[in-house]
Amino acid sequence: MRSVTGRTDHVVIVGAGLAGLAAALHLAGAGRQVTVVERADAPGGRAGLRTLDGYRIDTGPTVLTMPDLLDEALAAVGSSVRERLDLIPLHPAYEARFADGSTLGVHTDAEAMEHEVRRLAGPREADGYRRLRRWLTDVHRAERHRFIDANFDSPLDLVSPELARLVALGGFGRLGPAIGRFLRDERLRRVFSFQALYAGLDPRRALALYAVISYMDTVNGVWFPRGGMHAVPTAMAAAAEGAGVRFRYGTEVTDLERSGVRITAVRTADERIPADAVVLTPDLPVVHRLLGRRPRRRLRWSPSAVVLHAGTTRNWSSAHHTISFGEAWQDTFTEIIRDGKPMTDPSLLVTRPTASDPTLAPEGRDLHYVLAPCPNLEAGPIDWSRIGPRYRDELVGVLERRGFSGLDAAIETSELVTPAEWAAEGHAAGTPFSAAHTFSQTGPFRPKNLVRGLSNVVLAGSGTTPGVGVPPVLISGKLAAQRVLGGTDRG
Ligand SMILES: Cc1cc2nc3c(=O)[nH]c(=O)nc-3n(C[C@H](O)[C@H](O)[C@H](O)COP(=O)(O)OP(=O)(O)OC[C@H]3O[C@@H](n4cnc5c(N)ncnc54)[C@H](O)[C@@H]3O)c2cc1C
Repeated sequence: MRSVTGRTDHVVIVGAGLAGLAAALHLAGAGRQVTVVERADAPGGRAGLRTLDGYRIDTGPTVLTMPDLLDEALAAVGSSVRERLDLIPLHPAYEARFADGSTLGVHTDAEAMEHEVRRLAGPREADGYRRLRRWLTDVHRAERHRFIDANFDSPLDLVSPELARLVALGGFGRLGPAIGRFLRDERLRRVFSFQALYAGLDPRRALALYAVISYMDTVNGVWFPRGGMHAVPTAMAAAAEGAGVRFRYGTEVTDLERSGVRITAVRTADERIPADAVVLTPDLPVVHRLLGRRPRRRLRWSPSAVVLHAGTTRNWSSAHHTISFGEAWQDTFTEIIRDGKPMTDPSLLVTRPTASDPTLAPEGRDLHYVLAPCPNLEAGPIDWSRIGPRYRDELVGVLERRGFSGLDAAIETSELVTPAEWAAEGHAAGTPFSAAHTFSQTGPFRPKNLVRGLSNVVLAGSGTTPGVGVPPVLISGKLAAQRVLGGTDRG
């Protein structure tokens, strides 16, 4: 494995999102002196927290999977998830509601899920589910160490028994047809393939190896931290601080000071912080600006999302996560990815964090988070400041027709976040989901975490390997730390 060369005693990390925090924990655990510089006033980045009229709102991720990765980061400094967080397992992980009025509890427990599948679609599909579950587990096993949790120096690094295994499992085919080999029921196919959208792709086009995301949430499980998702970065930052990591919040890095092939310091508006090595975790446009270079190639960005946060006087379901599927499916992806239009018959993720932790809302109130995938600003240069309010009303209207009757009247406070807001935060093409996971932007073909021509800079976060989402960025922080620490020198 290639690594940073020269001294690495003091590492400066730019960004206290989940990637930066994971890198900080792994580096501090290995004995490095670490300073994290973050432009916001608190840790979390995209996993942020906003308070609105007494509601505590998670601004980004709501579906927490693979908490063992969090445990691994905390363990680097002798802490643990058990010590720092109260994770509530969600049963079911989701409730799926379909356009024909049927519903399905998406359970991660095999027996419970088989029972649900049989109830919805009969014994043949229940048998297909069993086989699908085994396949998802095999795909995850084949990928986890060699493809996801790995630093690549060359595509040849992929050549391994695991690659042969993944080929044999059909990992390089397409996701939609792969799921279709196990399930015939269109509703069930959607439940196990919509996750491609998390990778920025249409399930018809996504590589089947992205079934690993379906493994994470339908087999491994979904959790919710008491106190909200923001409890995760808060816990990580506290553990890092306890291990001696210094945090500079409210401090934007404006420049990197260079001498030959090394960055010698990061600069902010009013100080110079000397560094032996630097880990950069902001989104790629910010990284390119700090490095003073243009991207080597044009990247394809993931679709974006409109998020409606609504404080309500009532609720409509006991579920924590509800996926409300529209009748349309293939057209939905064509609209948002190819045509650059909002979905005409949307599929929506509705999260009610107060189902698990009522303290996130004022007494007797509920918090709802509605996520609607939408085109990024390159695919669809939509003037969201103009259509935003209309789109909000449209979303509320759709949900009212799909079982959330009286939603509009029950909303006492709300906020709409659109691609315009994501763009203002510096995210390329107005999407917080970074580069899409197309074949040419996956694994060793994704923007690399080592920077050409610089010997002591490493990238972490969703723009580099392995990719977008809480589990991948936690891994990216660890991979960045490994690059800094070198193959043998782990402190
Ligand atoms: C709406 C939404 C829903 C999501 N849902 C899920 C989900 O359910 N499950 C899931 O697994 N993932 C989900 N994700 C994805 C996941 O949240 C992200 O992939 C992940 O949090 C990104 O972490 P990061 O550390 O790479 O980036 P960030 O969190 O963006 O961290 C980068 C940090 O760098 C800071 N920064 C930037 N520029 C500078 C500078 N010049 N100086 C100093 N600091 C700087 C930023 O303020 C930020 O704190 C969601 C994301 C969003 C936005």
